[in-house]
Formats: sequence, structure tokens, C-alpha cells
Amino acid sequence: MPLFDFSKDPRARVRSIKKRTLRMIMAASKSQYPEEFGAMLRAEGEVINELMLLPGTISGQTHAIFHFHNLPIDFTVVGTVHSHPSGDCYPSDADLSLFRKYGWVHIISAMPFDMESWAAFDGAGQPVELRVVD
Ligand code: ZN
Repeated sequence: MPLFDFSKDPRARVRSIKKRTLRMIMAASKSQYPEEFGAMLRAEGEVINELMLLPGTISGQTHAIFHFHNLPIDFTVVGTVHSHPSGDCYPSDADLSLFRKYGWVHIISAMPFDMESWAAFDGAGQPVELRVVD
């Protein structure tokens, strides 16, 4: 039996994101370009509604590096977001190991960073449907 049953965690049920939060992700991704933008996602209930910048997160040309040991104990954090300046929304091998390490939902934003150019994945790297809500 697993020590923690993460499927029973309410954070496993996050299935939507506020439109203004998505807009913020795209604006930050654009302003960080050509480097990667990276942040944590916070949710209220089942809706992602906030970004949190993690101290020590390094954005680089190839990938944003998250320092999870800087993550405060915060049960509203549901996952990560980072940008792909290359323009593809598919998780790399490094992304997949990041997704497995922490979180329930992960967003990748891609060039040209409009409201359509993004995708969401679960901790196993499987695509998940995230509804955009007002
Ligand atoms: Zn990536």
C-alpha cells in the first residue's frame, strides 16, 4: 500500500484555470523570451488562480530549473508552469522527471504565447484537459 494516496488529495482534482492567470502566464512567457519562464501554480478549490515565483528558479535558454527545496509548505501549490520558447508544447525528458517530482498539474506555454498555445499534463506526463474559466 502506498504511504500517501495522492489521488485522494483535492489537488488531484484541479481541472480549470482562471483566464487572467493564463493571460499572466503568456505575458510572463513573452517578457522572458528567448529565455524560459518558470513558476509554480496555485489553486483555490479546483481552479488554478495564481502564479508563485519560486526563489532561486533559474531561467535558461534550454529549461527553467526549479529548486523545490525553496518551496514553502503551501498546500495551495498544485504544480508548475514553464515556457517553451521553441514553440512546441510537448514535455521533454527533463520535464517529465520534473512533473514526476512534484505536483498534480503542469502547464507548458509555447511560442507565440497566445491563449491557445499551451498544454497541460498530469504528474505522469499524460495530457489533461484544463478548462479556461472567467
Ligand atoms: Zn520544458
